Amino acid sequence: MRLSQAFQPTLKEIPAEAQIASHRLMLRAGLVRQTASGIYTWLPAGLRVLRRIATIVREEQDAVGGQEVLMPTLQSADLWKRSGRYDAYGPEMLRIQDRQKRELLYGPTNEEMVTDLFGSTVKSYRELPKTLYHIQWKFRDEIRPRFGVMRGREFYMKDGYSFDASYEEAGYSYFRMMLSYLRIFHRLGVKAVPMAADTGPIGGDLSHEFLVLAPTGESEVFYHHDWDLMDWGTSPLDPQKSEDLDALKEIVSKTYSATDEKHDEASWQNVPEDKRRSGRGIEVGHIFYFGTKYTEAMGVSVSGADGTAFHPHMGSYGIGVSRLVGAIIEASHDDHGIIWPDNVAPYRAAILNLRPGDESCDALCERFYQCDPEGLLYDDRSERAGVKFNDADLMGHPWQIIIGPRGAKNGMVELKRRATGERLELSVDEALAKVGLN
Ligand code: ATP
Ligand code: MG
Repeated sequence: MRLSQAFQPTLKEIPAEAQIASHRLMLRAGLVRQTASGIYTWLPAGLRVLRRIATIVREEQDAVGGQEVLMPTLQSADLWKRSGRYDAYGPEMLRIQDRQKRELLYGPTNEEMVTDLFGSTVKSYRELPKTLYHIQWKFRDEIRPRFGVMRGREFYMKDGYSFDASYEEAGYSYFRMMLSYLRIFHRLGVKAVPMAADTGPIGGDLSHEFLVLAPTGESEVFYHHDWDLMDWGTSPLDPQKSEDLDALKEIVSKTYSATDEKHDEASWQNVPEDKRRSGRGIEVGHIFYFGTKYTEAMGVSVSGADGTAFHPHMGSYGIGVSRLVGAIIEASHDDHGIIWPDNVAPYRAAILNLRPGDESCDALCERFYQCDPEGLLYDDRSERAGVKFNDADLMGHPWQIIIGPRGAKNGMVELKRRATGERLELSVDEALAKVGLN
């Protein structure tokens, strides 16, 4: 994309309504625009990030046997009356009436709809286990929308649901999902630690929230430092092997981590003092086992091996895809702007033409740009170099390819790595290789 033609309205002034860095930076870098309280339009660069996150989530969910569906945003109130949640959900639910005076709602989550879908389709234990997921907009009429997309009213969520024949099987679905989440967050370039979380009225120990550590997080967290050191990119654990899922369960039970609701002083004292870490975190995911709560309430059962019907055990698994855009920035920025991890950056690199109109400068910039016009942002504007440097730092591209008239004549370019500030003087071929354009 040529920046001179891009729809990426950057702001010089700091927006007054934004209280935290990620919200300020998303507005200043031209990623989103607010249209109503807690409701945002995603501009092209922001949408690219949102899609890249969704793609990684999708690939990793498919890799553990998830099957993608797309359920609607609007749901019939009748579904929620069957589970008993229509009244229980309260004012966070946006209730709507159609012209026939039928009651609808804008879905805040999809347990009811997916349980109904499953019940109308799956009849036998032989068809289990099943995991369905979708990536869809949700609406919750949050009492205090804030922090931009991190606590919006309309937001984008991946929500998955597993159906199993027994508690034991459901436990494997749960830890398989935990492994998938650990891989997702690793690929997204953020550290998100699974923390024991409240299970509410259902009880039990199968509920974990995934938190990105950041001082502006809304939750207080306590965890063993070993969580910081685990590398889920190289972990050999296989989500299809029961013994590997048992091993993960073992790691979780031995490596303390909890949100403040579940924090337990006695267990905390057992963590060696130099290994104790506490701070604040942003909840970016939640996995939860809730047994037969919905299958029972909604009368959904399948026939077992001996012919008797039973209610399948369920779990639900959420990831805040749009919240993650803010959370990643919150965890990865400096005074100058965003520092995108490579896998989610809207463009892999920016080309900074320091002298548009200069023949050799233009030619060399074009040569780089034509390697990947879709994946590169070419700053071809007739602006001062200083403006280009500042905007590139603000937008946070992992690499800056800086091309000035002197270098261009000698076939040299400067590469800047945004994350470290490191600058390299390289030949054209070396630079192409470094950014992966050859
Ligand atoms: P919170 O405690 O932050 O309100 P929640 O417990 O209501 O979250 P879930 O129902 O578990 O959240 O939803 C799954 C995920 O959706 C959360 O982990 C979070 O990342 C995201 N999410 C929830 N509410 C919002 C919101 N208002 N805006 C953006 N993302 C949200
Ligand atoms: Mg909530």
